[in-house]
Amino acid sequence: MKNRRASVAVQGPEILEVIDELHDEMLSFLIEIAEINSGSQNAEGIRQVIAACDPLLSEMGFQVGLLEGNHLIARMKGNMTPRILILGHLDTVYEKEHPFRKVVMEDDILRGPGVGDMKGGIALALYGLLCLKRTGLLENRMVTVLFNSDEERGSKTSRAFIEEEAPKHDLVLVFEGGKRVGDKTTFVIERQGVGTAQFTITGASHHAGMDHEKAVNVIEEMSHKIIELQKLTNYEGGTTVSPAGEIEVSDSRRNVIPEWVKFNVDFRFRNFVEKDRLFVGFKRIAETPFVVNRRTGRSAACEVKISLLRPPMIPTEKSLEYASEIERIGQEIGHAIVPRTRPGGSDGCYTAALGITTIDGLGPVGSGWHTDEEYLELPSLRKRLELFLRFWTNCF
Ligand SMILES: [Zn+2]
Repeated sequence: MKNRRASVAVQGPEILEVIDELHDEMLSFLIEIAEINSGSQNAEGIRQVIAACDPLLSEMGFQVGLLEGNHLIARMKGNMTPRILILGHLDTVYEKEHPFRKVVMEDDILRGPGVGDMKGGIALALYGLLCLKRTGLLENRMVTVLFNSDEERGSKTSRAFIEEEAPKHDLVLVFEGGKRVGDKTTFVIERQGVGTAQFTITGASHHAGMDHEKAVNVIEEMSHKIIELQKLTNYEGGTTVSPAGEIEVSDSRRNVIPEWVKFNVDFRFRNFVEKDRLFVGFKRIAETPFVVNRRTGRSAACEVKISLLRPPMIPTEKSLEYASEIERIGQEIGHAIVPRTRPGGSDGCYTAALGITTIDGLGPVGSGWHTDEEYLELPSLRKRLELFLRFWTNCF
């Protein structure tokens, strides 16, 4: 990487000193914000978390503001590149009255609501910036911090802000939590896109006994279509197609062949070639009648409505380059880390879809997200902080 400066060696010990200085404060801060309930619906709780973040950002010289919908934005001006956007979410899945509220430390494990997803990442990003500030490395840097409050509900009110900010930057860092796979930990430069296809099949309804021969059975037609749809799955290509449990019929009486049936298919894909292949497949399967009434010559009609819910995060040349640097730094500091494709989306999908290099899953390592078993591996908080700082000094 171009920018690997002689200063790395000089910065090295200094960074470790600053981490030593700030680590315990970062941990207390994490516990403090994790114990504030900030379920996506709990606006008051989210405001409290924002109030906890604000002084830290202001102290570093950020201009802190609030966007409509309770999203925190903080800007620092500078001329050096890359211009960096730091993304995170302040909300959790635990609704206001949820009993999972306390943070408990057991040896190397920190249990608590949102510690992994993603208040650990919020604490790490803020204290990472503070370490950079203290070592003079934020000087003349353009950094924007955007922490939204509705990620767990699909970022409905914040997506437009994210998509407006991203193109003003060269690199997006998302501090969603890291994961553990065996003796390695993971981060993310690739995620699957997600969509849904709704099929509506119309046939000929009749009494199940008396007029059996006149019917065009939509349930039978649906069964054929589902078997065909399943065949579109391609694990090697990162594509899955799953008929989902939402099935609606015009008539659910036992002795009637219904007029119509609607069913949904969830699909996930890694890139746009696969997306196009699926769209063609869905249309072909919709247009192909599998059941033909031999007496009347009638077959069922079918319409398909396809919606994309989230674009895929597709790696760029630059993100692959950064990824191998992150892997290398991980080895150097004794924190095994590798990029892994992750199912499930993040706000990084929106920025990556705009062509902005996006690196995700940089937060501390944890598991049990979205359950009351959520925890964080405590040593990873420090390791991932060090990783972030070394990544910064090596690459920017
Ligand atoms: Zn999250």
